[in-house]
Amino acid sequence: MLISGQCQCGNISFNLEWLPDPTKIPAWACSCSFCQTHKGVWTSSPAAKLQVHINNLTQLSRHTFGTRTADFLVCKQCEDIPVVTSEIDGRLYAVVNVHALHDISPALLKHLWSDFDGETVEARTNRRRQNWISNVTITSPLNA
Ligand SMILES: [Zn+2]
Repeated sequence: MLISGQCQCGNISFNLEWLPDPTKIPAWACSCSFCQTHKGVWTSSPAAKLQVHINNLTQLSRHTFGTRTADFLVCKQCEDIPVVTSEIDGRLYAVVNVHALHDISPALLKHLWSDFDGETVEARTNRRRQNWISNVTITSPLNA
């Protein structure tokens, strides 16, 4: 299944190739205050392939906080956060925001609640390595 998505204004867009076709798409609502404020609801599949394209890099800001192991890709134009990346042992992993997905049937979504407060950095890294999208490329006109 090929799923496309983008921030509201389209500056950050992506194609997500989710194989095999998902019967359910997990939608993890994160309980941290940042995700609550920014409607962060995340999904990923370890076997999926994600291609992110950024039209205008000057309109991209990267937010890191907490354990500083993840980069929230924020569009400065519309303030959406369509993608979060994490580099683990030189490999880029990612999750995408369910709100940024196009044409996803609500029936496909399986809403889940996550509370990662108190998780150690090691546990967090292992969880990402197992669950996050592990084939991630980011392109933009400047580094194409
Ligand atoms: Zn945008």
